Amino acid sequence: MSTSGGGAGSKPDLKGFMPEEVASFMVGLGEPAFRGTQVFSWMHRNHASSFDDMTNLPLALRARLAACARMTNLAVLSRKAGSQGTVKYLLGTDDGNSVEAVRMRYRYGTSACVSTQVGCKMACAFCASGIGGFVRNLTAAEIVDQVLKINLDVSPSGGRVGNIVLMGTGEPLDNYSASVKALRILNAEGGLNISFRRMTVSTCGLVPGILRLADEGIPVTLSISLHAPTDDLRDELMPVNRRYPIAEVVQAASTYATRTGRRVTFEYALISGVNDSDLHAHLLAGLLRGLLAHVNLIPLNPVEEREYERPSRDRVMRFLGILKRSRIPVTSRRELGADIDAACGQLRRRYCR
Ligand code: SAH
Repeated sequence: MSTSGGGAGSKPDLKGFMPEEVASFMVGLGEPAFRGTQVFSWMHRNHASSFDDMTNLPLALRARLAACARMTNLAVLSRKAGSQGTVKYLLGTDDGNSVEAVRMRYRYGTSACVSTQVGCKMACAFCASGIGGFVRNLTAAEIVDQVLKINLDVSPSGGRVGNIVLMGTGEPLDNYSASVKALRILNAEGGLNISFRRMTVSTCGLVPGILRLADEGIPVTLSISLHAPTDDLRDELMPVNRRYPIAEVVQAASTYATRTGRRVTFEYALISGVNDSDLHAHLLAGLLRGLLAHVNLIPLNPVEEREYERPSRDRVMRFLGILKRSRIPVTSRRELGADIDAACGQLRRRYCR
């Protein structure tokens, strides 16, 4: 696998451009700015897979674009349907890497859960994404195109992607610029035009990234993967905790909530005999008391390479009950995707073996 960033030489990738950037690129070619609007809309509304598809551009211009620019077009390597309308995609990049994306059906439309890196550096003990190590950051274009590939699949039946979650493989705040740029492109008018309020950035707790995102001026939902209420346990499960311990992460979450007015979600994967006792629940409640926050309990999705197991349904309900009685807003996530290897690097692992 290549470690280069996006491959295909140094031609600018127009799929990673904002509408105004596409417009100034066209102006740079001596074309009127409206050509930029056309190209942006071909890429993001009409799912053009090459400049050749852009049939309202003069032929000569299409040829010029192909010569001096490029547009990422991920290859759909596999599609795997699970229950409840969930579909898992394995998508190939131009340089021969592969990434996962998951489509989920929600009451009001389709959610796209996409990856931000090939592999991951964070090495969380229960997660499959980091097993093969880190390969490279995805470009903004590659993050956007995962959403477009899903949108293309649902559009024939009148559907469209209405929610984005950066919760696939990789750590979005470790690939900050490309992740935020991708969200801005997905929000842009003339493209998918998805509201920032329907986007979620999930992080293992990179404090400087959280604080930067708080000042970004985009009101996305922040989701923090906490998974443990004490530093000792979190150090063990998530090595990142040694750099950014729980108190700092909770403080950053509180800053995020204050600056954006958005309720922060704390993800907590329940692992049998590890972080799922009554005491853990009480400690977690104590940690989050008074915060504009919400806990999402996820029964662990067991990974073949790890020995961790999922707790019984009773244990999950008991843990949930303790948080509820402590007045911490809490839900238990439907385990969408568990039957199709979920969004935790598992499909890519299987494929890459
Ligand atoms: N790096 C980001 C986003 C990717 S992981 C983050 O850490 O949030 C997406 C979510 O899946 C995270 O909450 C992660 O902790 C969780 N996860 C990873 N492996 C899992 C597993 N085996 N079972 C359940 N959740 C898992």
